[in-house]
Amino acid sequence: MVDERVEVLFPGAEVDARVGELAREIKDRVPADVTVVGLLKGSFMFMADLIRAMDDEGMTPKVEFLQVSSYGLETTSSGRVKVIGDLPGSVGGRPVLLVDDIQDTGRTLKFTRDLLVENGADPVWTCALLDKPERRAVEIEADFVGFVIPDVFVVGYGIDYAENFRHLPFIGRLAPEGEV
Ligand code: 5GP
Ligand code: MG
Repeated sequence: MVDERVEVLFPGAEVDARVGELAREIKDRVPADVTVVGLLKGSFMFMADLIRAMDDEGMTPKVEFLQVSSYGLETTSSGRVKVIGDLPGSVGGRPVLLVDDIQDTGRTLKFTRDLLVENGADPVWTCALLDKPERRAVEIEADFVGFVIPDVFVVGYGIDYAENFRHLPFIGRLAPEGEV
């Protein structure tokens, strides 16, 4: 579906190709039976593609999700990270690959990585589909990154603005209010 407010940054085919490469990078460094923990909701589409790409590489990942929230309905981070619901109970003593849609200030990945480590996950790798290095506010760099992008607001491929646009099969930039 075409929406004039959304400009395509990475077409679906480009995302597919990069996810395939990411799975190959992951296979070289991470045990085949790693538990992949996706942060909801933004990572759900990336997770579905990534674990199938990992299967293509002969890996046998387990899959968990964790719901966190930091943005609410705004386009700028509140700086707070909140876990909604329970932690996956099965990470103790397990290798874990923590997956998020976007590494922005880094607070979400750092907070959730520390939480998994406190709950016995060992070792923990981190993966972000998109990375905005300009915006980093805490010390963390994801072990695996899909695409490095400038400080623009993105939607699509699971990523929302006020719960809209998650269904888009590509990653796009949402024009600021008034620009379109
Ligand atoms: P951080 O904690 O690194 O500042 O932010 C990470 C979270 O902020 C991401 O999981 C994502 O939910 C949200 N976020 C950061 N940049 C964007 C963006 O451009 N678009 C959307 N929709 N969410 C973003
Ligand atoms: Mg998020």
